[in-house]
Amino acid sequence: MKLVTALAEASVAPEGHLQPYTYQRRELVEPDWRRFPGWSEITQAEWESAQWQRAHCVKNVRQLRRVMGDLLDEAFYADLERDQRERATMSMLLPPQMLNTMDTASTEAFYADPVRRYMLPVFSDRRTDWPSHPFASRDSLHEAEMWAVEGLTHRYPTKVLAELLPTCPQYCGHCTRMDLVGNSTPQIDKHKFTIKQPDRLEEMLAYLGRTPQVRDVVVSGGDVANMPWARLEDFVGRLLDVENIRDVRLATKALMGLPQHWLQDDVRAGMERLATKARRRGAQLAIHTHVNAAQSMTPLVARATQAMLDAGVRDVRNQGVLMRGVNHTVEQLLDLCFALQDNGVLPYYFYLCDMIPFSEHWRLSLGEAQRLQHGIMGYLPGFATPRIVCDVPYVGKRWVHQVADYDTARGISYWTKNYRTGIEADDPEALERQYEYYDPIHTLPETGQDWWRDHAGDDGDAHGRDLDAAAASRAASEAMRDQ
Ligand code: SF4
Repeated sequence: MKLVTALAEASVAPEGHLQPYTYQRRELVEPDWRRFPGWSEITQAEWESAQWQRAHCVKNVRQLRRVMGDLLDEAFYADLERDQRERATMSMLLPPQMLNTMDTASTEAFYADPVRRYMLPVFSDRRTDWPSHPFASRDSLHEAEMWAVEGLTHRYPTKVLAELLPTCPQYCGHCTRMDLVGNSTPQIDKHKFTIKQPDRLEEMLAYLGRTPQVRDVVVSGGDVANMPWARLEDFVGRLLDVENIRDVRLATKALMGLPQHWLQDDVRAGMERLATKARRRGAQLAIHTHVNAAQSMTPLVARATQAMLDAGVRDVRNQGVLMRGVNHTVEQLLDLCFALQDNGVLPYYFYLCDMIPFSEHWRLSLGEAQRLQHGIMGYLPGFATPRIVCDVPYVGKRWVHQVADYDTARGISYWTKNYRTGIEADDPEALERQYEYYDPIHTLPETGQDWWRDHAGDDGDAHGRDLDAAAASRAASEAMRDQ
């Protein structure tokens, strides 16, 4: 099926010059899955079944070959296999719904596709000069250090993140929780929760009950769509019984990756019960999803969004991740934001891609992110204009223009904060210190790249050291700043 777009009124400035961006209302289209040789016989009823989608996720190169048939050149599979062996921090897990939104017109088109670029990374995507930043690390946000109980990150004064489970219906190549989420890869041996899930959830509820300053819980994972519904409903229902909890946000990329899950009758009915309970209590229940490219917004995703709004959730909001080759231009970002906003999803945040190993080809510099923020202002309604934020290790989300100082030659930005995280109650300097964030080295001027070569070795093969140095990264970065 062809993507149909209708050009809305041309946006022309008074002098007759075209605006830098022209809004186009996009008619949503579910691409025809029957173009895949492996799915040529699949009916609409099968496609719209959550069970069928889960059972036919692509988990390895062999399964991808079976679905794609002769649509891709052999070289692509070799490129993918090499990435799986030598670079991937996430195992492959691709629901048919997501694969279907990729451009399969040719191998070249598939390589260039924005969704392919982050869901199915290949070796040739990655940088060879600096595949990882020297200060990249597993758990780059240090969430586990801030666990109040296992899986409950207490980083902000009034908010917590509850990681209920370490799995998702889809695995994103750039996942910031690559430390814990998904299956181990040849490069990354995943950490495991040590406490059984029912006991962990009880401990979380007990902590929240005795910590009245917490009012806001992000219920996440992984992805809550992988939690059996009855167990999720029980947890969220009990969360809503905690007097101090006023905001509950359910984190699920599956609203886009597997919308069939959220369209199931039992899930819709259960969500309605939870939303009703929240409303009666004067609490807010919302869904946070993760869409990075406009093409991901299909009729099924819009239907799932509407189903959740009909069930009574307060909002469906998007938290995307900025990535080169995926959404790094003003046009790509605005196309995505309008596709979201026109279909019931609030474009809420975009994060800079976190400093995990092997992410340098995706990451943007702070300066690029600031220019993107400037470029998207003024087109969307103010309430739907996303903030672009940097999740600064040991600090938290900072709007990109909040930077305190910025060494653009070395690509080091300095950030301050106005609260203590859970591990800094006794740290007198927590609010005085400046915290660093690092631009990708390949985006720096030559002088800056030279500086990093001198300080981090000049063979460019930094990734092995990154993993070893993860635990010491913060101390080392402070030492470098003082030089
Ligand atoms: S859905 Fe979220 S938690 Fe799951 S792999 Fe993607 S980014 Fe990670």
